[in-house]
Amino acid sequence: MSFHFTVLASGSGGNASFLEVAGRGYLLDIGLGPRQIAQRLAVQGANWNCVHAVLLTHTHADHWKESTLRHLHRRSIPIYCHLDHHEDLSLGRGAFELLRKNKLVRCYETGKEFHLAAELRCCPFVLSHDSRATYGFRFDAWVEALNTRRSLAYAADLGCWDDVLAEAFSGVDLLALEFNHDVDMEYASGRPAELIARILGERGHLSNQQAAALLAEILRRDERGRLCHLVQLHLSRECNDPELAAEEARAILERFARNVQVHTASPHGPSPRFELGRLPPPTTASPSPHPKKTRGRRALPASCPYLPGMEP
Ligand SMILES: [Zn+2]
Ligand SMILES: [Zn+2]
Repeated sequence: MSFHFTVLASGSGGNASFLEVAGRGYLLDIGLGPRQIAQRLAVQGANWNCVHAVLLTHTHADHWKESTLRHLHRRSIPIYCHLDHHEDLSLGRGAFELLRKNKLVRCYETGKEFHLAAELRCCPFVLSHDSRATYGFRFDAWVEALNTRRSLAYAADLGCWDDVLAEAFSGVDLLALEFNHDVDMEYASGRPAELIARILGERGHLSNQQAAALLAEILRRDERGRLCHLVQLHLSRECNDPELAAEEARAILERFARNVQVHTASPHGPSPRFELGRLPPPTTASPSPHPKKTRGRRALPASCPYLPGMEP
């Protein structure tokens, strides 16, 4: 049984990932338009025909697009979301209503496992974030032939974490986790104090240090040494640097003496296609796909319209 994962886009400009299990495809979030999703799926040799369902984490504008909801309706693709998402999704121009009328809206509930397919279970976990209701997911697929399972955990927007989440995410093969900002860069950003406080707050976004601490807690519980891939999500363009985020994670992996492949997702194009269950190659230095940027203070206009995590 195959189990693949690709980040199509990650960051405040739009979020979408693609999971393929036993020949069926699932999009996690639809923060890009349908054409852009098609272009990024094509890089992986996939297309909209491969998408069998969508799962929504929350309703911030970088995680869903009205045009993509409309596309789901045209293609009769169901969307799984929480009841608390309905009101925000209904504020669009009618696409969500069309999906509802055509019985293409499925509801998930906090902590209640459900089957996306016979061989694929999904469990939604509530995350601390300043959207109406925000979820991370754990996916488990049973591989009959090998008498084992393949598992993936995904958490894109969260301001803090606790033992419940660390336990829920332990023992997975691939962890996709937000490494949003570097705290020093955030303070030096010149952004309004209120915005900085929201991003750094318990309902904002995870710093590199917070995410690394969660990674450490997950590794401490990963007694069988299952984790093979770490995918860093939702990096702030202004207040983070992919190298810094990767360094923070690698320091933890070294402490635990673990060979885990670290990939920092980019807003500019899809990640590699990760195969769960296949051990990563030994770590070698590779050129960064991220454009270099300078650290330091950058002037912003006196009034800043950006919401946390939605900075340009
Ligand atoms: Zn958000
Ligand atoms: Zn977001």
